[in-house]
Amino acid sequence: MADVEQVLRETVRKLLQEQKVCRVIGYARGSSALRSTPVFIEDEKDADSLVFDITCGNNLTQYLKKCGKAGDGRVGIVAKGCDGRAVVQYIAEGQVKREGILIIGIPCEGVLDHRKACDKTQGREVSEYRIEGEKVVLKGKDFEVSLDKFDVLSDSCRRCRYPSPPVHDVFITEPKEAASQEPECKEFDEFEKLDASERWAFFENEFSKCIRCYACRNACPMCYCEECFVDQSNPQWFGKSTDLSDTMIFHIVRVLHTAGRCVDCGACERACPLGINLGLLNKKVEKEIQERFGYTSGLDPDETPAMAAFDEEDKQEFIL
Ligand code: SF4
Ligand code: SF4
Ligand code: SF4
Repeated sequence: MADVEQVLRETVRKLLQEQKVCRVIGYARGSSALRSTPVFIEDEKDADSLVFDITCGNNLTQYLKKCGKAGDGRVGIVAKGCDGRAVVQYIAEGQVKREGILIIGIPCEGVLDHRKACDKTQGREVSEYRIEGEKVVLKGKDFEVSLDKFDVLSDSCRRCRYPSPPVHDVFITEPKEAASQEPECKEFDEFEKLDASERWAFFENEFSKCIRCYACRNACPMCYCEECFVDQSNPQWFGKSTDLSDTMIFHIVRVLHTAGRCVDCGACERACPLGINLGLLNKKVEKEIQERFGYTSGLDPDETPAMAAFDEEDKQEFIL
C-alpha cells in the first residue's frame, strides 16, 4: 500500500494547495499497529499523516454532514467502495449536495476484523504487521504469525462486490472493477436455508448477548437521524432495558430504518464489542430489497431509494 499512500498524500496536498477542497476526511495511524483513526486535514502540511491500509475500517461517510458548512468549499473524502456507496446514498437521500463533495476513490482490498486477528494471536499485542501477497504477518514482542488474509478479513469484505466507489472525482491509482456477481458466501447460503422460526431463533440467540451500547448505530453512516428513536423519551417507543423483547425491537426497527440504504460496509458488526452477527441480518434485508424492488443501494445518486418510491406493481402479498 506504500505507493497508494504516497499518491494519496500527493493528491490531497495538491487539492488543498489549489483550493479545490477546504478539508479532506481520511485516515491517520491510530493508537496501535492495527488501528487507524479518522482524520480531518485542512492544511497541506498535514497531508503526510494520511494512511491507507487494511486497518482503515471506519466508514468515513458518517462525518460528511458534520464536516462542511455553507460557504466553506468542497469537502474531500477518501472513499473505499463501501464509503463511496454511502456517499452516493447520501446524495440520493438529499443529505449532501453532489457539488459540495469531492470523492477521492481508493482501491480497497478489504479491511481487518480485529476479533478474528485477536483470536489468531490469542489476544497478544501486535506491534507491527505487513502484507505478503495473500498473507498477513502479525508480529508482537515474542511472536510472529503468518495468516491467510481471507481468514482475518471482515465478513462484509469477503462478500464485497464493489471494492471501488461507483462515483468518484479523482482516483488514487486505478479503480477495481465491480464483480459481475456477488462472491460466494457459505455462511449466508446456510443461513438462507433456515426457515423463518429457525432464523428467529438464530437472531434471538445473537441479540440475547446485546448490551444496548449502540456502538453499531454510532458507527453506521446510514444512522444519521439527529435524534434516534432509541434515545427518545417523549414519547418513549419501547423500553431501554436489555430484556430480549426490548433488544429485539431495537434491532428490528434499526434494520427496517436501514433497509434499502445499508451499503454492507460491516462497520456496525466490527464496532460491536460482543461480536454479534449483524451482517447476516443486513445482508438478508439487502437481498429482499434487491429481489422485490430491483434496487441496490449506493450505486446511482439519481435513482430514488427503494423505500422512498411506490409502484403499483410492487409485490403486496404481505398485506393481510
Ligand atoms: S466492503 Fe468492500 S469496499 Fe468496503 S472495506 Fe470491505 S472490501 Fe473494502
Ligand atoms: S447497517 Fe452496518 S453494514 Fe449497513 S451501512 Fe450501517 S454500518 Fe454499514
Ligand atoms: S454494538 Fe453490539 S452490543 Fe452494542 S447495541 Fe449494537 S449489537 Fe448490541
